[in-house]
Amino acid sequence: MDLAPARPDALAILERLGVAHSAFADGATTGAGLSARSPITGETIAALAETTPDETREIIGRAHEAFLRWREVPAPRRGELVRLLGEELRAAKEDLGLLVTLEAGKIVSEGLGEVQEMIDICDFAVGLSRQLYGLTIATERRHHRMAETWHPLGVCGVISAFNFPVAVWSWNAALAFVCGDPVVWKPSEKTPLTALAVDAILKRAIARFGEDAPEGLHSVLIGGRAVGEALVDDPRVPIVSATGSTRMGREVGPRLAKRFARAILELGGNNAAIVAPSADLDLTLRAVAFSAMGTAGQRCTTLRRLIVHESVYDALVPKLAKVYASVAIGDPRKDGTLVGPLVDADALAMMDRALEEAKAAGGTVHGGGRAPMPGEGVYARPALVEMPSQAGPMLHETFAPILYVTRYRDLDEAIALHNGVGAGLSSSIFTLDMREAERFLSDAGSDCGIANVNIGPSGAEIGGAFGGEKETGGGREAGSDAWKAYMRRATNTVNFGTTLPLAQGVKFDI
Ligand code: NAD
Repeated sequence: MDLAPARPDALAILERLGVAHSAFADGATTGAGLSARSPITGETIAALAETTPDETREIIGRAHEAFLRWREVPAPRRGELVRLLGEELRAAKEDLGLLVTLEAGKIVSEGLGEVQEMIDICDFAVGLSRQLYGLTIATERRHHRMAETWHPLGVCGVISAFNFPVAVWSWNAALAFVCGDPVVWKPSEKTPLTALAVDAILKRAIARFGEDAPEGLHSVLIGGRAVGEALVDDPRVPIVSATGSTRMGREVGPRLAKRFARAILELGGNNAAIVAPSADLDLTLRAVAFSAMGTAGQRCTTLRRLIVHESVYDALVPKLAKVYASVAIGDPRKDGTLVGPLVDADALAMMDRALEEAKAAGGTVHGGGRAPMPGEGVYARPALVEMPSQAGPMLHETFAPILYVTRYRDLDEAIALHNGVGAGLSSSIFTLDMREAERFLSDAGSDCGIANVNIGPSGAEIGGAFGGEKETGGGREAGSDAWKAYMRRATNTVNFGTTLPLAQGVKFDI
């Protein structure tokens, strides 16, 4: 069986979405260019020129000029642009979703789901454009008024990872636009085509919106780490939202801190679930399978550690091993496929290495290894690894479908194991015991930014703020009050009286 090539469909979609041919050249990469490939077949789809340092500076300059105009457009009117973007995304959903599948290797429903997430955050941001609420604060001085107001911040840099090639942009851009900030986007070097497609879709919304949208409101920088660094170091960019590995965050965070720029860091996860004695095991099995194997284990929220009470271990783990052995791996475009390709051969090498380390730490490995497929795509069999204790590679994120399982005796021990890793993104407990559930969600429970009960750690909705603690970076995006990161806060005190009382009763009579 041969795999259908990805390139013709990808090029046809780019054409339909109106991506200018000049943005990418046909054929293989030459020189300093960047090649966009499909992990499904391993073929090169297109070659793109990298954005040069001079071009990057120019683009940021234009974005800053755009900021000076965009900040004066009333917020509800800015929201109208995001409303139009949502409309354009609805119209382009099938095409963009399939392009995500072709370029990032996600199964079709996940590619479409990612675009739906973009539409959802647009809806959220449109409402938000009329709700950028400040506060009125009680003042200690007579005939004074004190208030807190929110103002646009400036150019927002967005750096994104390959595994959510379009949704992460939208969590940031939809909010940044309504908050009055232009966006300069450096997508992953592994997924430049979906970024160009999103830019073309946005340009359509901008054309319908009219002249209130300044030139330079949105730009895409094509390239890898060096281009990202240029964005991070530019003093005209007061906020950078960077999504990717903890390694990347360790480099980007201090660079931003050095120039006092704001950082939203959305970094790696090493997410765990506790399975308690009272858990509904059928529901748990399904939740674990999706969270651990979905997106071929390449989600920041992928379930990587399962901490199972010893009383239910034997009822759950053999069943889970069976599911692992029978899961449908293959072409993500095909109905019924649940696990698509890894992004590239490096990902499989990291997975193989982690499994070797797990064996050395006493683990028993079920599955793993390369799944045979035609073409140059790299497919892995998901691995379930029974560990005698939480040690070795279980302590770190390996961005591949590996689930480590270990036993626990009492909930305090389970929570300690749960929190005993560097990352702090997402977490779950499976239990029907209200006391256990509430303890897990309490101050003394999960230390993650996301904590769930009877739901796996992956698959968040946009309404809640998304992000995590510790080595996950501390940033929050999307819902709740995440918008505040994209604005500057001012405290205003107004004296409408005729005297000048000083705060704290200070006297200064001249
Ligand atoms: P990566 O760190 O290799 O790259 C992410 C992005 O950062 C890319 O655009 C890359 O070009 C850029 N980059 C890398 N080094 C940089 C530097 N020094 N300066 C500026 N930019 C730099 O990550 P990846 O392999 O694309 O994605 C997988 C990782 O991302 C995993 O660790 C995953 O957990 C994480 N992730 C986190 C979230 C989240 O919201 N917390 C979401 C998706 C992915």
